[in-house]
Amino acid sequence: MGEIMKVTKFIRRKSMIYKTGVEYGDYTMNHVLGCSHGCNYPCYAFLQKKRFGEVTSYEEWCEPALVENTLELLDAEIPRFKDKMTLLYVSRLILLCLGILKFSK
Ligand code: SF4
Repeated sequence: MGEIMKVTKFIRRKSMIYKTGVEYGDYTMNHVLGCSHGCNYPCYAFLQKKRFGEVTSYEEWCEPALVENTLELLDAEIPRFKDKMTLLYVSRLILLCLGILKFSK
């Protein structure tokens, strides 16, 4: 069994759910900034976050920060999106696993 990493960094975001063009969901959310996996090949997610100034180094990227206001954002946003949303893709980069919450209409 893998080592469990304790998250020690927290950030706040202004929004959580956003429309996506990916084939596996029409909306997506990411409650984590960064990834502890630390792949040796160039990480596209890191490069994007660095490009937009959300992280400054790969070392910072490898110490993920949890979005501490995720639940309050979801409380506010899910009622707004629920009639439009079919699949919400949830990215959990710390665990390297993906989950999909299915909404019924
Ligand atoms: S997000 Fe994590 S697992 Fe994916 S490429 Fe970057 S470091 Fe690797």
